[in-house]
Amino acid sequence: DTVRPHHAKRTPLMAHLPDVTRQSTLAHRTRREPPAGEPSRNARLLERAGYVGKLMAGVYSYLPLGLRVLRNVEGIIREEMNSVGGQEVLMPALHPLANWETTGRQDMDILFRTKSGSADAVLGPTHEEVVTPLLATQVASYKDLPASVFQIQNKFRNEARPKSGLLRGREFGMKDMYSFHLSEADLEEYYERVAEAYRCVFERCGLGAVTHYTYASGGAFSEFSHEFQAVTPYGEDTIYLDHGKGIALNKEIIDRYPADEIAAMEQVTAIEVGNIFKLGTRFADAFGFRLPDASGVPQSIHMGCYGIGTTRLVGAIAEILSTDDAMVWPENVAPYHCHVVPMDAGRLELAESAAQALAAAGHSVLLDDRAVRAGAKLADADLIGLPHRVVIGARTAAEGLVEYTNRVSGRTVKVPVAELAAATA
Ligand code: ATP
Ligand code: MG
Ligand code: MG
Ligand code: MG
Repeated sequence: DTVRPHHAKRTPLMAHLPDVTRQSTLAHRTRREPPAGEPSRNARLLERAGYVGKLMAGVYSYLPLGLRVLRNVEGIIREEMNSVGGQEVLMPALHPLANWETTGRQDMDILFRTKSGSADAVLGPTHEEVVTPLLATQVASYKDLPASVFQIQNKFRNEARPKSGLLRGREFGMKDMYSFHLSEADLEEYYERVAEAYRCVFERCGLGAVTHYTYASGGAFSEFSHEFQAVTPYGEDTIYLDHGKGIALNKEIIDRYPADEIAAMEQVTAIEVGNIFKLGTRFADAFGFRLPDASGVPQSIHMGCYGIGTTRLVGAIAEILSTDDAMVWPENVAPYHCHVVPMDAGRLELAESAAQALAAAGHSVLLDDRAVRAGAKLADADLIGLPHRVVIGARTAAEGLVEYTNRVSGRTVKVPVAELAAATA
């Protein structure tokens, strides 16, 4: 038996809520100059475009547009985790140090340690130390297994070199899921289902074509783990692609690949956007989480853990699907589907009716109603990077037309407002 989907209903992503937001009402502005000392594109573009604000190295605030992107990414991940029976929970970020001493991980370099009252505490970099004793209190019998819980929450890691914008943070968002099984075979079956759900996540986020399912080191309890590696020069991992066999390997395990095959491999730089692990019985054993099986014999519990960096994924999408001056968000994660840009105040009325027509067809719309010159509006629209753009200039408007561009395909057409919604399909 394996974990069953428990949550068939889907909530719409923010990007898919039909509404019109007037740009003049947003706490938002763009900047002409990129932030200093930031070579990566996501750091430069997301700050310039007014998606995020940097507080210090590796620590960012999310502004209205950036938060909508993050919520869309989280929404996709939530749906896919529900589809493999994950139950959403929320655990504390502040942990007693004692839990970390139980597993012997209290001296990890990246741990932020602090005081909670007179007791030592840890800001959670991951949650095996919390979820294992928690599930031990909720699972009464082997009949309750398998079980799988996940959360979407901020993690804290004192990274030696926080850099590349959202790609490596000290405080960052993660979806972490943990599964509990009575047998290794059951864990293995579930692991494959989660891997498939992960493929769907990256596909829906627009990175399917550049994300490789990659063999990586597995720690002490299984030979390999699997990483989802998205190819980008600002990644910090080196992976090897065997195009013939359709296999990707992290450099850290390349020694274990038969030597006569390496020659044929392509070496690329990539960022780890997800990682799935078989943990074996290590954590359950450390916390004394055992259950009697059907014949009354106490059994060790096998665990799997499955992470996706939610904020890193936002950064990776921006990094990979942009040029130096322009972003193109995929529809599923874009803060809004459509940008309606009147070139002057006289075109506002037609712009309003175009925006309403798009919303009526189910689109979320950002309407640039600001009193700003046309060139600046167009440059801002490139930076903001919505996938559908409607430009309304005096000459086309006089002919009763608006100019629609699909920024993913580059196709531009002039259409009357009545045909606009059809043009976006
Ligand atoms: P890396 O090798 O990049 O340091 P990791 O292997 O330490 O990542 P995991 O412990 O596997 O990371 O965490 C699960 C996921 O969390 C990663 O696959 C990644 O997407 C994300 N992640 C990890 N560290 C960071 C970070 N410092 N900033 C943003 N996201 C991160
Ligand atoms: Mg790390
Ligand atoms: Mg790693
Ligand atoms: Mg990892």
